[in-house]
Amino acid sequence: MKKFKHQTQISNVLVIGSGGAGLRAAIEAKTAGVEVMVIGKRAKEDVHTVLAAGGINAAMGNVDPEDSWQQHFADTMIEGYGLSEPRMVELMAQEAPELVREIDAWGANFARLEDGKIDQRFFGAHSYRRTCYSGDYTGRSILMALLKQAKSMKIPIHDSQYVTELLVHNNICFGAMTFDIKNGERTVFLADSVILAAGGHTRIWRKSSSRRNENTGDGKYQIL
Ligand SMILES: Cc1cc2nc3c(=O)[nH]c(=O)nc-3n(C[C@H](O)[C@H](O)[C@H](O)COP(=O)(O)OP(=O)(O)OC[C@H]3O[C@@H](n4cnc5c(N)ncnc54)[C@H](O)[C@@H]3O)c2cc1C
Repeated sequence: MKKFKHQTQISNVLVIGSGGAGLRAAIEAKTAGVEVMVIGKRAKEDVHTVLAAGGINAAMGNVDPEDSWQQHFADTMIEGYGLSEPRMVELMAQEAPELVREIDAWGANFARLEDGKIDQRFFGAHSYRRTCYSGDYTGRSILMALLKQAKSMKIPIHDSQYVTELLVHNNICFGAMTFDIKNGERTVFLADSVILAAGGHTRIWRKSSSRRNENTGDGKYQIL
């Protein structure tokens, strides 16, 4: 009979997804003093976040002082056709300025005004100039800054790990089962807590600027 072999990895927190969301969550968990591990199905320097070009929004008011987090909230809710979760949008709009400055300090290299403040420009659906940018490669800048920060904090990132199943008992998720997309080797990742940051589901659209084989909605549909 063929023997079923797998590796086992254990951590306090397992983060599924090594894009901007997953890396930032991992940095927060590590800062809180727990052991954290990140896994993703793609090479860590080439996850979907790397494609973002235009910039990241934060109501800093560096160019248009009338801007406010409340207006950022309103613009986002309207452009989201009211489908967005209001509390999440509220938190995003309130905390974005501080968090963008933080990523900048980690090396995201945002464009500057003459007075040294972060430059801000118009972007779709916004009432004021509030988009911070690094040329036309903002996603790459953010991803590289987060990877550098994660490395300096010794956060292990296992890429090429495709999650096929979440491990759940009594409604509590305690890990995930993966296979290595390079050699098919299976690994069981065990953790006290699991954070799902597996990206969006752009494949529901026939036409999209996203990669066809990455944002397949795994976190929502396939591995749940
Ligand atoms: C062309 C383009 C331009 C964009 N421009 C902008 C912009 O200017 N400003 C802006 O704010 N946003 C922009 N976006 C959107 C932005 O890039 C995304 O919203 C953001 O990067 C999402 O980050 P994330 O960490 O949630 O997901 P992702 O970066 O998609 O990361 C998801 C992670 O989950 C992993 N994963 C998924 N399924 C599995 C699985 N089964 N097993 C293991 N791992 C899995 C992936 O490998 C990846 O590591 C743009 C998007 C595109 C495509």
